[in-house]
Amino acid sequence: MDLYEHQARELFEKHGIPVPRAEVTASPERARGIARALGGRAVVKAQVKTGGRGKAGGVRLVADPAAAEEAARQILGMDIKGHPVGTVMLAEPVDIEREFYVSYVLDRAAGHFLAVASAEGGMEIEEVAAERPEAVARIPVDPAVGVTTATAVRIADAAGLPPQTVDTLVRLWQVLVREDALLVEVNPLVRTADGRTMALDGKVTLDDNALFRQARWGDERAISADPLEARAAAKGLNYVKLDGEVGVVGNGAGLVMSTLDVVAGCGARPANFLDIGGGASARVMADGLAVVLSDPAVKSVLVNVFGGITACDAVADGILRALEEVRPTKPIVVRLDGNNAGRGRAVLAAHAHPLVEQATTMDGAARRAARLATAA
Ligand code: GDP
Ligand code: MN
Repeated sequence: MDLYEHQARELFEKHGIPVPRAEVTASPERARGIARALGGRAVVKAQVKTGGRGKAGGVRLVADPAAAEEAARQILGMDIKGHPVGTVMLAEPVDIEREFYVSYVLDRAAGHFLAVASAEGGMEIEEVAAERPEAVARIPVDPAVGVTTATAVRIADAAGLPPQTVDTLVRLWQVLVREDALLVEVNPLVRTADGRTMALDGKVTLDDNALFRQARWGDERAISADPLEARAAAKGLNYVKLDGEVGVVGNGAGLVMSTLDVVAGCGARPANFLDIGGGASARVMADGLAVVLSDPAVKSVLVNVFGGITACDAVADGILRALEEVRPTKPIVVRLDGNNAGRGRAVLAAHAHPLVEQATTMDGAARRAARLATAA
């Protein structure tokens, strides 16, 4: 889960990284009051989970509270790369002497973390990295050792950062470890005119698998999740929303992943991943199908179950239950095989619902579901 800048700022502050005084609001009038409390001048910043806000006009330096209100009103109406701006942060302006870039990111392929740092931070960091990669230092960080003072000195040396940043480099690593983040990024980390080091922007991506032990973000996750994913999670379902039009329900993560591949191989795009798990009951099947059918992007649904512990007749019962509860308007192609497949197929055949078709193979079922989705 990505955090907003103001949440990243909160974590930096908690771990002793210097940050400007700041406050968040959704109200332009309130923005005026915050600017006054900050001393009149302020930086008004869109809070959206995407970069490049500065270039999009979502970061404005204002000279007085009235201008802060005006800037907040404008920024709150913006859409930045498809992200509507719901709140702004007002921060005390800082007199910048130099801008640096620093991040720690998990390098999955290499099996360690990577410190990425540059003395040429700021809004052009992407161009710098693309055109002059030598200006960006990349130092492996052994997760078992972490960033000690010695490591931080090496990172600062390699990137050309002043020694005053070393303490912040160590603390930023502590943010990553203690807050269970997969990425922490500060751009810009600045040297102020009066010689202090300060984090003026922050991006933090938390490890979703660790959220259970990070109580601070419990509600946040529910709010930030896709509404369908939130609904599925509330039912205890393993559901991931994707971009396509063929809804997919299966049992076992491996089978569901193969089903996604087969659907893609048939020229359609899967709308989701949904694993009802081993030994799924009719209730779980009905809940799963209901979630998939409620996705407006779904044009057809493919139910692909290979009964092991799961009995296909229970799956068939679950499909009938969902038909009753949801009253779908989209075609459903069902392939049942394995444990009790004969009984499951017979249950569906006897019911003869006009929107439900059966197929005997996974490939055949996927072809049919793909065709129904692309024809619709
Ligand atoms: P981003 O464009 O989404 O990365 O947003 P940032 O928070 O990084 O802001 C973009 C740029 O605005 C920074 O690179 C700074 O140059 C500038 N900026 C941000 N805060 C301040 C500030 O307090 N004072 C000054 N002078 N510039 C700032
Ligand atoms: Mn930035």
